[in-house]
Amino acid sequence: MLLTLQTTHRPATDLGYLLHKHPGRFQSVDLSHGKAHIFYPEASESRCKVALLLEIDPIALVRNTRNQKAVNFSLGQYVNDRPYVASSFMSVALSKAFNTAMNAKCKDKPALVAQALPFEVELHSLPAPKGGEVLIRKLFEPLGYTVELERQPLDAQFETWGMSKYFRLVLRHTLPLHLLLTHLYVLIPVLDNDKHYYVSKDEIDKLIERGGTWLQEHPEREQITQRYLLHLKSLTRNAMDRMLEQEADAENDGPEEPEEMKARKVSLHQQRLKQAVKALKASGASRVLDLGCGEGKLLRLLLRERQFREICGMDASFKTLQNARKRLYMDEFSPRQNERLKLIHGALTYRDKRLEGYDAAAIIEVIEHLDENRLQAFSRVVFEFARPETVVLTTPNAEYNVRFETLPAGAFRHPDHRFEWTRQEFETWARAIGDKFGYRPEFSPVGEEDPEVGGPSQMAVFTRNDVLNQESEIDPDDN
Ligand code: SAH
Repeated sequence: MLLTLQTTHRPATDLGYLLHKHPGRFQSVDLSHGKAHIFYPEASESRCKVALLLEIDPIALVRNTRNQKAVNFSLGQYVNDRPYVASSFMSVALSKAFNTAMNAKCKDKPALVAQALPFEVELHSLPAPKGGEVLIRKLFEPLGYTVELERQPLDAQFETWGMSKYFRLVLRHTLPLHLLLTHLYVLIPVLDNDKHYYVSKDEIDKLIERGGTWLQEHPEREQITQRYLLHLKSLTRNAMDRMLEQEADAENDGPEEPEEMKARKVSLHQQRLKQAVKALKASGASRVLDLGCGEGKLLRLLLRERQFREICGMDASFKTLQNARKRLYMDEFSPRQNERLKLIHGALTYRDKRLEGYDAAAIIEVIEHLDENRLQAFSRVVFEFARPETVVLTTPNAEYNVRFETLPAGAFRHPDHRFEWTRQEFETWARAIGDKFGYRPEFSPVGEEDPEVGGPSQMAVFTRNDVLNQESEIDPDDN
């Protein structure tokens, strides 16, 4: 299955910047049922064309029970159109291959993101049910596309066999690239659908509310949303999921908290996670642990960084780990992704061999959930037995609590916190750990720093002494 996208904007090779894919390189991404290849058949000043070629593995598809149910003749699970047509797999491929562009980001030429550019998209084989031609037009024309459709014959050599249900579709429009990509991402699976089951009205309302203004204003929005949601369950959903991430986080933070504090916590947590990723990257680690990983917010960020070749999340709560599996769509992982990320159930207060041999560990907002008398056991588990080169650890800064106007004096930020430390208390504890186990901690505030009470949260990055010594042994004049 092939999708091509071209522009005549000048210089046309800006497309490479927008897609974060170099026109001179052939690249591939793994999908749960195959691979997607990205390459440029043409890249000149006046025209640039990128191709997304899907290679679906039909055998892997057969193993997926969902697909077996969908076919209605016995060989149908082996002989079907899935490898050759644009379907929800194309959506997944688009979101994987062009995720950054779909999220309206362009590192090198940010001004291009919002710019309307002339695009032409060609989908070589698009299945459409009865009345498909009308539906295709109803979906794309209200968004401003010029639609060119050509129904394919069943077999070009036997004209009398008649026409097939597959179309070649060419779309032309001048618009920002990220919009074009989200249109395709949502509308391709909407077309490839002929089964119906019940989708609750709540779910529909949610997608309409969040799907961006184009969907809200689309005359066919109900139909699009219903059909899209049928496929939602079978998609890896990267792009859409990321668009929704902020809101989902806000919802999951619990209804009992006042709005103002909730909103601040969400953005603080994002900052904290980003800072942790930065510290882990700087350590040079490639095998990393996320201890007390919760629902996998940090794991999701770690997965995006190629540097981390092996990632392991551990949590004491089995239910939380199940939620993490869901939120990370681990059921849809390719075999390679499955090897890269592991989730394990365990407690940080018991020695655990599975934690040994990693380069670095992140422990984000976890220690304050442990009883203070268990902290010693915890520190041995991490710093004596698991003993990674780097440990990135964060905990709230109790001094900052006075800045949360709605938090009663002396109360903790979360009902499950057993303690919250001042900066001094945290540093004293961390230095004692460093002295005992041979690590050097470095401290930094997390979140916007207040001149009096410091940052809302605090971070220590512990580096093992032998690593520090190795670094200082390297003579800068050696080379
Ligand atoms: N690090 C995550 C979650 C923080 S909430 C994030 O930043 O989003 C604290 C997590 O620590 C919870 O998921 C809780 O289940 C886990 N936890 C608490 N005590 C633990 C223990 N003894 N061992 C492992 N995990 C623990």
